[in-house]
Amino acid sequence: KHNPEGDTHFLEDESTKIFARKVADHYSARTNQTLEEREASPIIHLKKLNNWIKSVLIQLYAKRGDAVLDLACGKGGDLIKWDKAKVGYYVGIDIADGSIEDCRTRYNGDADHHQCRKKFSFPARLMCGDCYEVRLDRILADDAPFDVCSCQFAMHYSWSTEARARRALANVSALLRPGGIFIGTMPDANVIIKKLREADGLTFGNSVYWIRFDEEFSEKKFKSSNPFGIKYKFHLEDAVDCPEWIVPFHIFKALAEEYDFELVFVKNNHIFVDEYMKKPEFIELMRRLGALGDGNQDRSTLSPDEWEVAYLYLTFVLRKGGQPDQT
Ligand code: SAM
Repeated sequence: KHNPEGDTHFLEDESTKIFARKVADHYSARTNQTLEEREASPIIHLKKLNNWIKSVLIQLYAKRGDAVLDLACGKGGDLIKWDKAKVGYYVGIDIADGSIEDCRTRYNGDADHHQCRKKFSFPARLMCGDCYEVRLDRILADDAPFDVCSCQFAMHYSWSTEARARRALANVSALLRPGGIFIGTMPDANVIIKKLREADGLTFGNSVYWIRFDEEFSEKKFKSSNPFGIKYKFHLEDAVDCPEWIVPFHIFKALAEEYDFELVFVKNNHIFVDEYMKKPEFIELMRRLGALGDGNQDRSTLSPDEWEVAYLYLTFVLRKGGQPDQT
């Protein structure tokens, strides 16, 4: 069993670093959109749906005064959601320096930014770093323990090697308090592999996304004993265009258990939406975000192709072992 307190050193090979850099450069190069550009996006309703999913997760699991660690926080698109949950402290880390700069601007209440014209009520620390390589417990020793850790649409970037996947989970485990919560979203490997099997060749997709597996991909490799480093290229219109990694969820769960996590739930995002859309408080939130519209006007609702992209993702909640400190 791995000892999270131990001083194990995880080595990376050169190609892993190159891919991590490609991902960082891709996200760094994405500039902020104006409100008009955002509303004109072919995936605007998907973006709103994803914001709704993240808001629901945060409302379910963050409590007033919580210390929050946002791994791969990007441009800080979730800052407002954490503010609504009245959290007490926020640390955001991302590998893309351009995104962290945007996040800082957003946090400081840039008057030109469409989403934020106010200061946030919680203090924040924003840092650029590779969350799947660096020992964050050392860097954040004075900030820990955290009550909640969030990793939204980014955990799969850790799955290029076992060393990085372990570093990711070791970091979260070491920084969360006993009983702390780890929430996240990432691609659903079952769905992606099912679509690949149904595809004619190594590429599939629709009008807003495509996924392409490398020539060297084979079922044999997929079923082989190494569940890390299964790479594909993901393109999502107006959002993503970079190498990603398949995360077989049962392996993720088993590895997380080694780092003292228990699974609270995992749901494909279609199931997540169906379930939480039944709850009045979240229906109202969906209406406010405008993700699904009123159902009568096609333009105000998610297109079938956007809805298919939602199916590519899952949402998970893990709980760190131990009892919260009662004192
Ligand atoms: N969590 C944000 C959100 O939900 O809006 C951003 C999601 S974006 C799809 C993925 C993010 O993961 C990018 O900001 C990217 O820079 C970040 N990322 C990828 N690999 C990373 C790594 N090794 N360490 C830290 N951040 C990483």
